[in-house]
Amino acid sequence: MSLLELDDLSVTYRIASGEVPAVRGVSLSLEAGEALGVVGESGSGKSTLAMALLRLLPKDARTSGRIMLGGEDILQMKWGRLRAVRWAEASIVFQGAQHGLNPVQRIGDQVAEPLLVHKIATPEKARSRVASLLAQVGLPAWRARSYPHELSGGQRQRVMIAMALACEPQLIIADEPTTALDLMVQAQVLTLIKELIASHGISLLMISHDLSVLADTCDRLAVMYAGRVVETGPAGGSFQHPYSQALAAAFPTVGDPASRLAPRGLGGDPPDPQRLPSGCVFHPRCPVALDTCSTVDVELRPAGDRRTAACVLVLEESC
Ligand code: ADP
Ligand code: MG
Repeated sequence: MSLLELDDLSVTYRIASGEVPAVRGVSLSLEAGEALGVVGESGSGKSTLAMALLRLLPKDARTSGRIMLGGEDILQMKWGRLRAVRWAEASIVFQGAQHGLNPVQRIGDQVAEPLLVHKIATPEKARSRVASLLAQVGLPAWRARSYPHELSGGQRQRVMIAMALACEPQLIIADEPTTALDLMVQAQVLTLIKELIASHGISLLMISHDLSVLADTCDRLAVMYAGRVVETGPAGGSFQHPYSQALAAAFPTVGDPASRLAPRGLGGDPPDPQRLPSGCVFHPRCPVALDTCSTVDVELRPAGDRRTAACVLVLEESC
């Protein structure tokens, strides 16, 4: 059994102008100890997917499908069970730690909070655990007495990672954890995440718009476009779907300053979820689209060694 299994997961926001299908029938699995990257342009539904996993979506979002974590469906859980699962079994690190930290509470108290809330430690034990957690993310113990504004962006993101590790979860979900950081700091935080998940045997679901960041950190990647997974495959492999190839060309190396500013190879914009194109949703931007692509939508299917793809051309070639 996989640690996490998404089965036909869909999320639709209901807004004044109608429905916004942000995630559309995503099926993915994550094995224990595996690092899975989810990549796609802004607006492809990555954050919606991440928040759905722990039922953190706003009230106007309707979720369907199944989210099996350790054999239990998150979507069916009672509130008390769900609260225990958050932090203790799966925790989440968001982009821009400013929003995740309380500005008027000391760092140490914030890192200790999940330990005390989940009764994992007494107040005294929590203090030494906080020091150990801060050390694991490369911060000195005295930082426990600091307030968030006294830390740099990279240090605050390290604190968020310490909080995510606090209750020793099996799964960490990280949504663009390094996107707001300078390039040097981004590389340091990525290395830290990689080392921590390997040494603790934690599974990671990491989200980024930057394919090179994920290729460097993860075992396997899932490429999302307009709310769907269009390709999955080994992180080091060569991607086949024209959209994945465009993303790979846009982000050739981690933190390449030129590509961060102006992604190469991707013309146009992702579609408005309220006005999705017919057929394959990528066809209006696809450099190799066939006539049939505007009418025929291809589902995700096996396309070679440990690879799946939703593209009529890729499937023809791998047959
Ligand atoms: P990503 O993280 O890949 O940038 P998001 O999950 O944030 O994508 O957004 C996916 C789509 O859902 C976008 O079209 C976005 O505008 C829409 N969306 C996100 N949050 C809401 C919301 N609270 N209400 C309505 N639409 C939303
Ligand atoms: Mg996002």
